[in-house]
Amino acid sequence: MTPNRAGGVQRAVEVSRAVPRLARWLMCSALTLTTLTGCASTLSASKPSVPVVGREQVSATLWMQRAAEYRIASEQVYRLATERLATTIAAPGTAAIEQQSLSPSELSALPTAIIVDLDETVLDNSFYQARRALVGGEYDEASWQAWMQEASAPALPGAVEFLQAAARAGHKIFYVTNRECRRLEALPDDPCPARTATLRNLEALQLPNANAPDALSLRLERPEWASSDKTLRRAWIATSHRIVALVGDDLRDFVDRPVYEARRGELAERFGSRWFLLPNPIYGSWERAITAGACDPGMSAETCAAAATARRYAALEAEPAPSP
Ligand SMILES: [Mg+2]
Repeated sequence: MTPNRAGGVQRAVEVSRAVPRLARWLMCSALTLTTLTGCASTLSASKPSVPVVGREQVSATLWMQRAAEYRIASEQVYRLATERLATTIAAPGTAAIEQQSLSPSELSALPTAIIVDLDETVLDNSFYQARRALVGGEYDEASWQAWMQEASAPALPGAVEFLQAAARAGHKIFYVTNRECRRLEALPDDPCPARTATLRNLEALQLPNANAPDALSLRLERPEWASSDKTLRRAWIATSHRIVALVGDDLRDFVDRPVYEARRGELAERFGSRWFLLPNPIYGSWERAITAGACDPGMSAETCAAAATARRYAALEAEPAPSP
């Protein structure tokens, strides 16, 4: 998760007015046609309403929570990655483009490591998404910090089993997340409450070597780690370990997006071999590329949501590209 997601400046709207109106509409819908006339006149001044802000994420959140297909997709990715532990992951070479200038002998001298993202790769935050949708809100920093402090995100299907198998095979696990180190007023003595809570969450899930001093890296934990781009953190790990596999839900967990576009023919085959990608229909750099700049801090949550929705509609492609 990053704070500049679509509608990142949005605030939760008051739903105390909307919920009674919705309940009244549902009650009226259940009445007979005879009495419906009376209801219609009552409702004419107040249309049936469910939250508008956050509505864009409802279907995707439901897919993550309700679709067997999502669970199967996650299990499938991690089963493939586990099978690859003995084949491509065990082979000489590196998974990180930050490390490809090293010679075979330089690489083989390093201990091996696997880098995994956390949110929607290892940790399932769909409960947070559902809570935001139910109150007519989207991602914002305050609610996200509160969710992180609960440290109760479950693991995605297959993630724990893969990471434990990888650790047994001798690979060190590095957890590289864009959760941010920010001080919280409520926890003044903790310089990085997000790290403390995330570590608690990872340990509860029995994820291997999560509490090793350098295993977990957060955005802003060092001044040079201010970007959501993880290139510098991969490069930092690459100074001490041969990176044999990457797991993430966003292209930027593997390579910066422009680099991938420029080298797609060469890099695409890494997926399923040393790179393993989880589906994330809710958010990501793909979505920010569409909605970036749609909102400004002065907008109301509703206006921002409408502006982002307009961007999404404008990005729809209704015709196939002409053949070259
Ligand atoms: Mg992620």
